[in-house]
Amino acid sequence: MDSDSPVAIETLLRELNVSFVKSGKEAVAHCPYHSPDKHASWSINTQTGLHHCFSCGASGNLAHLVSHIKNIPYSSAAIEINQTVGWARSYQWREDYDNKNFSPQTFKVSEADMAMFTDIPQEVLAGRRIERSTAELFGVRYNPANHSWILPIRDPYSDELWGWQEKFISERHFRNYPIGITKSKTLFGLDAFTDGSTAVVVESPIDAMRVSTFGAGSGLACSGLQISDFQLSLVFERSDNTVLALDSDNAGVRETGRICREYQGRSNFWVFDYGDTVAKDPGEMDDIDIILGFANAISGIRWL
Ligand SMILES: [Zn+2]
Repeated sequence: MDSDSPVAIETLLRELNVSFVKSGKEAVAHCPYHSPDKHASWSINTQTGLHHCFSCGASGNLAHLVSHIKNIPYSSAAIEINQTVGWARSYQWREDYDNKNFSPQTFKVSEADMAMFTDIPQEVLAGRRIERSTAELFGVRYNPANHSWILPIRDPYSDELWGWQEKFISERHFRNYPIGITKSKTLFGLDAFTDGSTAVVVESPIDAMRVSTFGAGSGLACSGLQISDFQLSLVFERSDNTVLALDSDNAGVRETGRICREYQGRSNFWVFDYGDTVAKDPGEMDDIDIILGFANAISGIRWL
């Protein structure tokens, strides 16, 4: 079965009373943004929802379209898409995963699925002490329907969107979309990473954003308790300097030791210093403690 759900977008177009003619992956119609449009200047990609009018220049994603036609705010349109197109797709992912039909190669999300989401509310950013510019650099979005962070998971080389982690504001747990996505084959933050800068490796994507604002390096998150060999190779390809800022709990300390022992010589390792804070991860620390954590980081060899 095809992973993309053109039918869902076509159904949505019919519900919006947009009459169209299919032309390959495109649906061609009279422009919903300007009238009269004599020559059907508007087309929408039925797999991505991205659209463009060659006459008036209007363009955007599916939420822009719903927002315009229904005359509702973008955030409301994003919720609607979440509950219609988005819901249909996540349901299909669940079913295919349960039926063991799932394969990351065939079940791809598309960039336009991000239309289900909105900018992150200021109070949510402030709650984690993350700058809006940093969140934008990392491409992080917000799901207003579930009050959750949307943390993209991308191909380490092409930046192609594989899916995302959804992290609820009020809970610790994550959901992954599509279900079963292989996070260990990439790192969160690679697309925001400048080759040659210092890699600050953390466990949580939200902490990756948090540690990136101090000029000590750019955050990369393994999105789990352990870093795979492949994830480490992705770090070494891009940087000769690595600060390990894994959680300060037993599992984090054990993993830090393993990496410093097994990979000495592959990178200049530094271990972030939690000092006498009781913080479990950098996300729980205030600015001054994080700055000290970088300043007092010790080399992996000495740390061992
Ligand atoms: Zn137009």
